[in-house]
Amino acid sequence: MDPHIDSNEPHRLYEWTGPLLEVEDLHLEFRTRAGVVRALNGVSYQVAAGETLAILGESGSGKSVSAQAVLGLLESPPAYVTAGRIRYRGEDLLPLSPEQRRQVRGKEIAMVFQDSLSALNPVFPVGWQIAETLRVRRGLSKADAMRRATELMDLVRIPAARQRLRDYPHQFSGGMRQRAMIAMALALDPPVLIADEPTTALDVTVQAQIMELLAELQRERNMALILITHDLGVVADIADRIAVMYAGRVVEHADVQSIYAAPAHPYTRGLLESLPRLDQKGHRLPSIPGLPPSLLELPSGCPFHPRCRYAQRVCVEQIPVDQLLPAARSEGRTSACHFAGEIVNLPVADETAGRSTTDSRGGLW
Ligand code: SF4
Repeated sequence: MDPHIDSNEPHRLYEWTGPLLEVEDLHLEFRTRAGVVRALNGVSYQVAAGETLAILGESGSGKSVSAQAVLGLLESPPAYVTAGRIRYRGEDLLPLSPEQRRQVRGKEIAMVFQDSLSALNPVFPVGWQIAETLRVRRGLSKADAMRRATELMDLVRIPAARQRLRDYPHQFSGGMRQRAMIAMALALDPPVLIADEPTTALDVTVQAQIMELLAELQRERNMALILITHDLGVVADIADRIAVMYAGRVVEHADVQSIYAAPAHPYTRGLLESLPRLDQKGHRLPSIPGLPPSLLELPSGCPFHPRCRYAQRVCVEQIPVDQLLPAARSEGRTSACHFAGEIVNLPVADETAGRSTTDSRGGLW
């Protein structure tokens, strides 16, 4: 048995076969002086051991808030979960006390934050910060904790780890700091790792290296990995499934191949179209018109309707429910669009070239 895994934890004594983490119909709001910010409006997703789920969306779509809710990091007030469940190994985390949530954090579900400079404490050496987690949470001696911190820094390929143990965060490059953050997140061997925009501040080469490292660690440790990003291009090689979020809701959920081959929601199509393509040099990149809606005052009906080129009257009047696409379009695939069945059949090439597409009804399309 791995010496770093505590055999007293009952849930580790038997094999859990279901999804490790399930978020079900989660509603969360921030009650502010300006009004009620409806940050999550029925978010559902799940992830199993050995699986990578990418959660994708623009800023303000609720992807980071949902991760913070999973970890119990949101202060109440102003944050309130008004409905839904967050289950870890089948157990609902929401009724747990703050101390019980703290026990889950890091040991069962850990997070790599997007801004390593502010997540790391600037006045303590990086090695010390990793070791401290092991001393406090695992009860290791100072010497053992430092030894394990060196191993973890080696694991995430920080060169000359032993010599760099006593370096401060400002002495690390952005990529190395992010590796240190990953080492810290792995210190307690969490079965679930959430990486929140782990490569945002990094250049593309370092970005690719960090993604490769995360994928490798996930495979080696059979972890459930949740990768939060706004960049559809980043997740193509690493994710198994993608949950696309808009206005605090998952609007499309499918395996990676299906989403790239035939997106079933206009928002996903818009994101795909705005990816740079090597064969379209010199062309202006298409973008989704308009801005994400204010979560203080969501538009009526489908919250994407003010920006959607396919919007029709029903879109303004009725909130679309999740539609399950036919199994031939991949198992369990959903889209929260009134016209999911039609959208998924639109040719992607035409869309990308910006040509208009007509449907059999000859309507707005
Ligand atoms: Fe567009 Fe209507 Fe679908 Fe919303 S429901 S994404 S407005 S077509």
